[in-house]
Amino acid sequence: MDRIQLLGLTGEELERFVTDELKQPRYRAGQIADWLARGADIDGMTNLSAPLRARLLELAVANPVRIQGAFRSKLDDTEKFLYALPDGNLIEGVLMRYHHGDTLCVSTQVGCRMGCAFCASTLEGRVRDLTAAEILGQVVAVNRHIQAEQPDRRVHNIVLMGSGEPLDNYDNVVRFLRLVNAPKGLNISLRNISLSTCGLVRRMYDFAAEGLPVTLSLSLHAPNDEIRRKIMPVANAYGYEEVLAACKYYVEKTGRRVIFEYALIRDLNSDVRHAEELARRLRGLRCHVNLIPLNDVKERNLAAPDRRTVEAFLKRLELKHISATIRREMGADIEGACGQLRRKVLSDMESGTGNT
Ligand code: SAH
Repeated sequence: MDRIQLLGLTGEELERFVTDELKQPRYRAGQIADWLARGADIDGMTNLSAPLRARLLELAVANPVRIQGAFRSKLDDTEKFLYALPDGNLIEGVLMRYHHGDTLCVSTQVGCRMGCAFCASTLEGRVRDLTAAEILGQVVAVNRHIQAEQPDRRVHNIVLMGSGEPLDNYDNVVRFLRLVNAPKGLNISLRNISLSTCGLVRRMYDFAAEGLPVTLSLSLHAPNDEIRRKIMPVANAYGYEEVLAACKYYVEKTGRRVIFEYALIRDLNSDVRHAEELARRLRGLRCHVNLIPLNDVKERNLAAPDRRTVEAFLKRLELKHISATIRREMGADIEGACGQLRRKVLSDMESGTGNT
C-alpha cells in the first residue's frame, strides 16, 4: 500500500487522520502540521513519542520530495534542483534569488503531453501527474535547503513554470494552491504565485471561477494562429481569439493583469511585423508581455534571434503602448531552462556517464 503523503492533507484531513487512524488526541495534528511546514522528517518530530513516530512511519511519509542534487550558478546565485520522488521519478526546479524575494519555479507533472516544439519537458511525453504533496514538497524541501545556510530566508514567490502543464493536472494544482496558502502551512500569499499555461481554455474558465488571486501567465509565443500552430499543438484545439477571450475573462474575474510569455524564435515569430500584429491583437487587454529569447534545445532545430532583433521587437511593442520587458537570463551555466537538467541527467545515466 502506498504511504499517505502528509503534506497533501488539509488541516481538517490531518486531524481526521490523527484521531481516526492514529487514535491520538486532536492537538497532535497541530504538532505534526508544524513539523511538516518546517520540512521535518517523521524521525525528527521529537515531541511525538517513539512508538507514535514508528506507527506514523509505517503509514505515512512527511515530504515525498527529496533533493537529489543542487547546482548553484556562479554567475547569479540561481540554483537548480534535481528532486527524487518515491517511485524513482525525477523532476527539477530552479530557485532565483531576487532582491524582492526568492522565487521558486516548480514542476506540476513528470514530463508533459502538450508537445510544444521548443520545450525540453515534453520530448518524451507525460509520465504522470504530481500529487499536491509532491508540488508543495518542492517548496518545503527548498526552504529547508536554504535555511540550512540562512535561517531567516525562505521561498517568497512561486511560479508554476517548471515541467508539466498545470491546468492538465488541475485538481492537484488547485489543491496545492490552497495548501501553500494555508495560514498553518507555508502561508504564502496567492498574489505571490504565478500559474503558467499553454492555454487550455476550458480549464482557464474553471480556474477563473476558483476565485484564487493568482497571476495568470499565458504562453502565447506567436502573433497569430498560423504561427502558433507550427510550434504549439494546443493551438489546434483552441483558436487565438478563444484564448484571448479566456484571458480577458480572467482579468475581469480577478482584477489582475495577464502576463503573456513570448519566446522569440529566429525566422519564425521575431520580426517587427510580428510585433505589430501582436500589439494589434492585444490592444485593450490589461496585460504585460514577457519576451524570452529562446533557450536553444539541442534536440530541436530552433534558436534565438540576435540581440538587435530582440530589442527591435521590444521597441515596437512599446511604441504601440504594450507593456513589455525582456526576461533576464538566469542560471545560464546550470541548464537553467525547464526540462533540460532532468534530460541531461537521464541521458547521462543512459550513457553511463552520470554521477548522481
Ligand atoms: N506548461 C506551462 C508551464 C511550463 S513552461 C506553459 O506552457 O506555460 C514555462 C514557460 O517556459 C512557458 O512559457 C514555455 O512556453 C516556456 N519555454 C519552454 N521551453 C522554452 C525554451 N526552450 N525557451 C524559452 N522558453 C521556453
